[in-house]
Amino acid sequence: MRPSPSSPVWHPFTQHALEPVMKRIVKTDGAYLIDEDGRLILDAISSWWVITHRHRHPVIMDAVRTASETFDQIIFAEYTHEPAEELAKGLIRVAPPGLAHVFYSDSGSTAVEVALKMALGFFHNRGTPRARIVVMEHGYHGDTIGTMSTGERGVFNAAYEPLLFGVDTIPFPHPGREQDTLDAFELLCRGGHVAALLVEPLVLGAGGMRMYPPHLLAQLKRIAEAHETLLIADEVMTGWGRTGTLFACEQADITPDILCASKGITGGALPLAVTLCSAEIFDAHLSTDRSRTFFHSSSYTANPIACAAALANLGVWQSEPVAARIKSLESMHRKKLARFRSDPRFTNVRQTGTIAALDLNAATVGYLSDVGPKLRAFFRERNLLIRPLGNVIYLMTPYCVTSGDLDRAYAAIDEAADLIAAAKI
Ligand SMILES: *Cc1c(COP(=O)(O)O)cnc(C)c1O
Repeated sequence: MRPSPSSPVWHPFTQHALEPVMKRIVKTDGAYLIDEDGRLILDAISSWWVITHRHRHPVIMDAVRTASETFDQIIFAEYTHEPAEELAKGLIRVAPPGLAHVFYSDSGSTAVEVALKMALGFFHNRGTPRARIVVMEHGYHGDTIGTMSTGERGVFNAAYEPLLFGVDTIPFPHPGREQDTLDAFELLCRGGHVAALLVEPLVLGAGGMRMYPPHLLAQLKRIAEAHETLLIADEVMTGWGRTGTLFACEQADITPDILCASKGITGGALPLAVTLCSAEIFDAHLSTDRSRTFFHSSSYTANPIACAAALANLGVWQSEPVAARIKSLESMHRKKLARFRSDPRFTNVRQTGTIAALDLNAATVGYLSDVGPKLRAFFRERNLLIRPLGNVIYLMTPYCVTSGDLDRAYAAIDEAADLIAAAKI
């Protein structure tokens, strides 16, 4: 019922009064975690969406070893270094065309905070201040005060509500009601105060793996452009192949004004984040007037070892058939998901790229429904790391996962649904 009495560790998103003592993971390998008892656990959620190709990709780990022979942290305001320079060039090469500058930080949340500051700084420095941020219902952008302000409000942030700033929210584009989303955005833009639309392209992750089509993202971009509102694409989860393309924005054939990436940027090896922006945004901060400086830094900005890992990851994307691997994973999910499509135990069976999700028809739904913890315990017993978001069960595995691994995960989902229906767990 409690953390091991000898452990002072306070774990994230963990109710220590309810969770069993945590097993120690002693090693990772491919799509697996290996615990202290020698159990091989399928990491079906890529250790919270960060592992892309596989755990400990040898090329990336080698790059980390090599970089650590020459570098540790180096102040990034005064000096620059090769890994950061090369990585920035590499990112601009693979990112949607038109993004011209790279700002480094160290987590998805900071990448989004940086994006918000860039957007407000842009309008401030142009002398046409705008301060409203528009977000999408069910969005998630991080757990800092700023990013919580832009995310869906709920039990996660109720205690901090007094500190959160106000944003404008457009409805999630449910099938058949897409026009409502577009109309709401257009109406907000007409006021002339909207600095930016901040949105997760194609898949709203933590908000329940909610998916919407690329054409809608393209339409939002068109409306934003017409009103000189910036589009911030939060690709922290969707980037690095998750949705079938390197970045999700590619599928809508758009270039956002600002793009945030983190999680899979190092293939999951080390923490790193980037905020890419257009030349216009950089130029609005470029001046002999020091007050126009972009006032932001993290102590570990552009950590050279993390940059080397990310650079090696870019190399893996070039030298290995990653795109083909993703295509094959996509089609595996498509085939295996098919059997749940007309299954009354589930609704909203859906997939975007390598992300597959389905909602369990449960009596109580929502994040705090007790279905979630029951399912987690059930999967844990079967050596599967699957963490449903309330009654939303999803798989987002490393790309090296085998068809047999997925069969095991889907069989467990099938069995769990029966047990929940029969109130047996
Ligand atoms: C995970 C996530 C974040 C926050 O990233 P952290 O590295 O956990 O701070 C932001 N946006 C999206 C879409 C995410 O999935």
